[in-house]
Amino acid sequence: MDVGDPRSLDFTRLAHDTDAPLASSPVVIVDGLFARHVTPRTANVRFDIFVHLPADLRLARKIQRKCLRDGFPLDVLLRNYLNHRRAAHEQHVEPLRGGCDLVVSGDRPVGVWTAIAANEPIHKSRLLLTPEEYERWMIRDCARCGRRASKSAEWSDGPICRTCYERAMRVRGRCLCCGTDRLLPGRDTDGTPICRDCAGIVRDFFCDRCGFEGLLLGGRLCEHCTLADTLARLLDDGTGRITSAFLPLVKILLEMGRPKSRLIWLRNPNVVRLLRGLATGSIPLTHDGLHQETPWRTVTHLRDLLMDSGVLPPADRQLLPYQRWLTERLAIIEEPEHRQLLRHFAVWHQMRRLRAKAEKTPLGRSQTNHTKQEVTQAGAFLAWLASQGRDIGQCQQADIDAWHTESPATRRPSQSFLRWCMRTGRMPRLTLPPAVMTQDSEPLHQHRRLAILRRVL
Ligand SMILES: [Zn+2]
Ligand SMILES: [Zn+2]
Ligand SMILES: [Zn+2]
Repeated sequence: MDVGDPRSLDFTRLAHDTDAPLASSPVVIVDGLFARHVTPRTANVRFDIFVHLPADLRLARKIQRKCLRDGFPLDVLLRNYLNHRRAAHEQHVEPLRGGCDLVVSGDRPVGVWTAIAANEPIHKSRLLLTPEEYERWMIRDCARCGRRASKSAEWSDGPICRTCYERAMRVRGRCLCCGTDRLLPGRDTDGTPICRDCAGIVRDFFCDRCGFEGLLLGGRLCEHCTLADTLARLLDDGTGRITSAFLPLVKILLEMGRPKSRLIWLRNPNVVRLLRGLATGSIPLTHDGLHQETPWRTVTHLRDLLMDSGVLPPADRQLLPYQRWLTERLAIIEEPEHRQLLRHFAVWHQMRRLRAKAEKTPLGRSQTNHTKQEVTQAGAFLAWLASQGRDIGQCQQADIDAWHTESPATRRPSQSFLRWCMRTGRMPRLTLPPAVMTQDSEPLHQHRRLAILRRVL
């Protein structure tokens, strides 16, 4: 078999030979036509570089090196090239271009190297090509959508743009040519989706770890395996493992389907910060711990996931916006004593009451609105009392009466705070004005009562 065919190589031996230096060195460079196929068993982060060179320069350099320098017969070299190597390159080497992380131009000195995030898809080849080279080598009319765009692959039906490539990586079903149920990225002459083997696509789409056939990301891992790795990295508690408390969260994120959406979510810097904070313990894994965090939309979504997975106990969804409101509301109260008193009232009285209610039945918006009114009016009362030169412990009956004379309906919600203060010995026991009766004082006559009942029924 010709050496230009990868089947002529002993890859087990090559993997073994790569494992040895990997054990002692942080960086190992594997050079060669089929370096892409070498898969060491040692865990590693790989970065594949395709060196692009036009065919005439490839041949010229080979003649210079083998014939002019080493004395190899030119006629043999040319015969090999024309009979085998030229076709072998097209068949075995060129397809590797699309699977590499970076394509560099081999006909000029390499300048600045630009690092690429491992999770980025593999189409970053423009980095070291000139605009003209890029246009010449990468830009094509897509065979499927007709757009003029950077090609991601060259398949039997022609050049494929990135959008069509990613779309093709989600087409599954029974291949009409061979009858197998699998990924159908190719197209037959009628445009019917067919499998990779029937379409003659050289590159394969099997995840290097789990064997799933689909879109491959950095390191030839599928989206699911990439998501698992990303979560493991973010939720590492510093020991190289995920804290056991977060395993249920990881489980539901992996089982949710559409891993691409999760990967996009995990690119949000706020999500990264929150997850890192929770994993390392700088953010307490409690509802209260999360209340201190922003932005609230991100926090809310994360909290829902933590509750859905059972990592955090369920909390009523109406209760959460109320707690957030309370944090903000208390923050703007200037007097530290007032703030503390209101916080105690909210935590020890209101929240307890709301939680007990929420356990029986979901809270309505009106309930939390009323609770907000209670805090607002309690704060207003404390400020008003201070303007009279007294604190809550020195409150008199005259103060209570004066407070309720002006706009009594607005101020009435403060009474729940006042009762709590009296009950807990924070203020003297005083009399609160009775609730205003709005009913008719006249008793209903029998016929009127029946008329109302008929209307209701
Ligand atoms: Zn397209
Ligand atoms: Zn097939
Ligand atoms: Zn996988």
